[in-house]
Amino acid sequence: MSEAGQQRVRVVVDAPQHSGITGPLDYLSERALTPGTLVQVPLGRRELTGMVWPGTPDPAAEQLDESLLRPISAVLDGLPPLLPSWCALVDFAASYYQRSAGEVALSVLPPQLRELDGQQLQARLKKLDKWTAAQAASPESAPPRPQLSPAQAEVLEKIDALMAAGADTAPVLLYGVTGSGKTEVYLRAAEHALAAGRQVLVLVPEINLTPQLEARFAERFAGRVIVSLHSALTPAQRLRNWLAAHLGQAELVLGTRLAVFASMPRLGLIAVDEEHDPSYKQQDGARYSARDLAVYRARLEKVPVILGSATPSLESWQHANSGRYQRLALPERIGGGALPRVRLFDMNSLPRNKGVMTALTAPLIAALRGRLERGEQSLVFLNRRGYAPVLHCTECGWKSECPHCSAYRVFHKGDRTLRCHHCGFTERVPHACPDCGNQDIAPLGRGTERLEEQLAEALPGARVARIDADSTKHKGALEAQLGAVHAGEVDILVGTQMITKGHDFRRITLVAAVNPDGALFSSDFRAPERLFALLMQAAGRAGRDAEQAARSEMWVQTWHPQHALYKALERHDFEAFAQSQLAERESAGLPPYSHLALLRAEGRTVEAARDFLSAAAQWAQALPAASGLLIYPPVPMSVARVANIERLQMLVESPTRGALQRLLWLWMPELQMLKREHKGLLRWAVDVDPLAI
Ligand code: ADP
Ligand code: ZN
Ligand code: ZN
Repeated sequence: MSEAGQQRVRVVVDAPQHSGITGPLDYLSERALTPGTLVQVPLGRRELTGMVWPGTPDPAAEQLDESLLRPISAVLDGLPPLLPSWCALVDFAASYYQRSAGEVALSVLPPQLRELDGQQLQARLKKLDKWTAAQAASPESAPPRPQLSPAQAEVLEKIDALMAAGADTAPVLLYGVTGSGKTEVYLRAAEHALAAGRQVLVLVPEINLTPQLEARFAERFAGRVIVSLHSALTPAQRLRNWLAAHLGQAELVLGTRLAVFASMPRLGLIAVDEEHDPSYKQQDGARYSARDLAVYRARLEKVPVILGSATPSLESWQHANSGRYQRLALPERIGGGALPRVRLFDMNSLPRNKGVMTALTAPLIAALRGRLERGEQSLVFLNRRGYAPVLHCTECGWKSECPHCSAYRVFHKGDRTLRCHHCGFTERVPHACPDCGNQDIAPLGRGTERLEEQLAEALPGARVARIDADSTKHKGALEAQLGAVHAGEVDILVGTQMITKGHDFRRITLVAAVNPDGALFSSDFRAPERLFALLMQAAGRAGRDAEQAARSEMWVQTWHPQHALYKALERHDFEAFAQSQLAERESAGLPPYSHLALLRAEGRTVEAARDFLSAAAQWAQALPAASGLLIYPPVPMSVARVANIERLQMLVESPTRGALQRLLWLWMPELQMLKREHKGLLRWAVDVDPLAI
């Protein structure tokens, strides 16, 4: 303790990775500050936002003479400190995903929180009180709730028991086909948690695609304060919603992956809907998996966590097989509706007229016409937006390559542009071939825009609508387009996987995947798992109305109808699919039977990136911690060059999570130093448990 009663406090700051600051820094404060308090501190010549952090100062820093420490510049009074359990979650995420605690802590807070002084905060809090009071105004009448099915009741009873236990319990894997009543289980479990005075966190993969879920919760819990947390909110909304959760006023928080870090002092239950969805993995900064952090958080706070899916991730499925997770199943659709019949249409059966590959086969057109005549809706999906993925010259072979990327620019007919989907480079479509002047340049292949056009041609009079990232760029467009589908103003809906997720379409009886084969032969070992989930989910869009279920069909056009994946799909047999995939993964030593990290490097040249990765590999291999681990040679990423930057990656494979973590802890700090010796290297990053390889 120095003169004037100055105390030493530890503060984490949002220092960029290249600064090399990883741990908390010591500062002086005139008064004791509770960990979790937001402060402003000087660092070099800058002022940064930081947070007082729990724990004791590290012995090395302790040596630092107090006269060298600088005082804290300001304290954000009036905001209750973040709780130790929240800091523990951040500490875990930071260390597991190899970032600094300060970076994680400050990046998951609402950005506006950093900009406010104490007075402005007070004003916000006053406004918030009024807002929550208005939300909580008592509802007209409580809506009727459906009688639980026996299967739902059984599941709920088990979840209730976990909630009552209040101990470290196994995560629940709620396994049930689309329409089996999983959401109703979340609603009831939430109701019970709320009745016990607790807060509930519900995570969804993409909140823009699930306004219905929000509406369902809002309807069921009218009079309760429900907030959402996702990146589409305005900064002011995000701050308001975050504060409502932090102060315990919001009882329910519904959000996308970033909501896993919501501060909720009375958290009592976490539900993760569609737990297999890749959007739960953050793709930059701290590349965390919100699903995995939800499991960690539940254990930390001794609350139950429900992971729901019709097609669980193989990681979760394997945990259920081994007994680490408790599997609870809802085997049937509510109302006994059948799942749509899967029809594998063999593309080899078509007559081959010289190289013309048509995505719209005559039998598919006939099937669509049948639905049209009965006044039913169809959904046709293709995972490629734009008109055609490539434009080419029939004379000299020129193709619409992007000058800045190792990829083709996509032809968008609507605004007659060639657009690179990787770097955004856009040009008007040339009138003639840029290389030879030939006027005959033609689209190759097909995207949703072209499919929409061809459907309208093949089925005159049909009302065809398209939903994809292009058609929904403007705010409110997606809601309007979905509204038209629900209102029955659309006969055939065309789109990317955006339309296969979550939507409760009531009138669709035919779902068609026109060209799904690509994923069967991808170099990414998770591609089949993703394809199976996508097709099952797409199938789930058909026949949601029990009356129509019997007539509902999922149409899959394939050149490989005998493929095991499609055979399992035909029987709606996730379990068989999972078993065969897990057997393959086990024999190949892939996750969940091993643990991966991916080191990525970006450079001005391939050599710069490769040299860095090779040096990094050499350094790691010299460590005893690397024994038993496999470090693969650096390889270009699947799109190797983006915006003139070369991108390479190097895979590290470990038999255990612990061994991988031990290597990373030693290795990552060295890479900061190593980067300085590699001038042509622009950036590097590590991705722990990468989803896309
Ligand atoms: P999932 O989340 O598994 O897709 P939902 O919970 O959305 O399933 O249920 C599918 C449909 O069945 C919804 O329209 C829902 O309102 C309805 N539903 C769910 N549980 C029941 C029940 N016990 N009785 C009647 N209808 C139900
Ligand atoms: Zn040409
Ligand atoms: Zn490009």
